[in-house]
Amino acid sequence: MSIALLSIGTELTRGEILDTNAVWLASTLTEEGFEVASTNTVPDDPERICAAIARLAAEHEVLIATGGLGPTSDDITAECVARALGVELVLDESAVLAIRRRVETRGRNFTPHHEKQARIPVGAEIYPNADGTAPGFSVQLGRCTMFFLPGVPREMKRMFRDHVITRLRPNAPHDTFVVRLRTFGLPESTAAQLLEGIEREFEDISLGYRVHFPELDVKVQARGRTQSEARARAIEVASVVRDKLGDVVYGEGDETLASITGRALRARGWRLAVAESCTGGLISHLLTSYPGASDFLIGSAVVYANSAKTRLLGVAEDTLRGHGAVSPEVAAEMARGARRLCEVDVGLSVTGIAGPSGGTSTKPVGLVYWCVAHPGGTIVRERVFHGDRNEVQIHAAHAALDLLRRTAAGLPEEATEVPMSQRPPTR
Ligand code: AMP
Ligand code: MG
Repeated sequence: MSIALLSIGTELTRGEILDTNAVWLASTLTEEGFEVASTNTVPDDPERICAAIARLAAEHEVLIATGGLGPTSDDITAECVARALGVELVLDESAVLAIRRRVETRGRNFTPHHEKQARIPVGAEIYPNADGTAPGFSVQLGRCTMFFLPGVPREMKRMFRDHVITRLRPNAPHDTFVVRLRTFGLPESTAAQLLEGIEREFEDISLGYRVHFPELDVKVQARGRTQSEARARAIEVASVVRDKLGDVVYGEGDETLASITGRALRARGWRLAVAESCTGGLISHLLTSYPGASDFLIGSAVVYANSAKTRLLGVAEDTLRGHGAVSPEVAAEMARGARRLCEVDVGLSVTGIAGPSGGTSTKPVGLVYWCVAHPGGTIVRERVFHGDRNEVQIHAAHAALDLLRRTAAGLPEEATEVPMSQRPPTR
């Protein structure tokens, strides 16, 4: 089945917002076993929208479009669909009622702009909007089934899950299964080298690599006569891949380095205090993105200035003067200070030069130290990260989480296969 995506909106073609709808739809459809044949973007321009609908309907069996269903004058998708089908727009009374109810319960007045959203091409199947006002709808043009969904991502996702995927699922090819392995600290080229030959060794297996800075996903896709056969094959080969890559593989599927680190701390019964300088709270943000972080995270301090490092964490002024704020000695005193002051099992610290300025010949931009102070000792690591300020921060936060994950899980402090200090930057 050939599926095309169409994102409608001038804000997209002007580059004012990212087309996250297409990303989400493409990855969700892929997970469901479909293949998206084409992704397209057009501005809120009637000629371009009509031409895109006519062309994509002629070339594909399914078209999923988002955007242009709202109340404003630039939202003209329904009009264009009616034109492409050669039908009129008709006011759908149940949609009017639903919109009126939603608007009025929020204490606002129902206006002709609201009513405009209930004007749907004759013959369309209408999908109520559980999270907003504009309903979606589907129509048939030739052999193409076309779905039109709101642009607001939350509304689009809900409608897709409630109405679109349920209609597509019976046609999904049920012969593939994907295991997504999540890795940190592994350049793409090294992964490819370590996994060389697997696709020849195992039948009906393909490997895919996706960089999600600063991480790399390795996808093991298997085909079989049935889905359970494909599943068993994918799981078997994924375990071979895990063995070859070693403990740079930290998880699977939707697991993240932060969620896995949290799990390792919980399993060890360790309570944590964090001291961040150049990452500005990012590590704490990543850890607290998951409910239940209070099981292990006791506190966190952003200690940007030297005075804060001294006052809040007890870093010695002599150490700061003698070695500078970006030094292994200060990283160690920060982690030990956080550990001592919060009376916890483990302290994690990061100090570095995120840039773009502040570098010197001995301490370049991107130089970062991170440290784990735990009951068995203190581990400090150093690395020069490449990239812009934001990338240095993200990379440093992940490197610190990875050291913490390894320490808590009793793994080697660094990847056994490819020592971090010898690796080129991931990107
Ligand atoms: P619309 O349905 O065209 O009125 O879109 C409503 C809002 O949804 C827009 O203002 C955008 O902020 C957002 N939006 C529309 N299309 C997309 C898209 N493809 N990806 C992400 N956000 C979008
Ligand atoms: Mg729009």
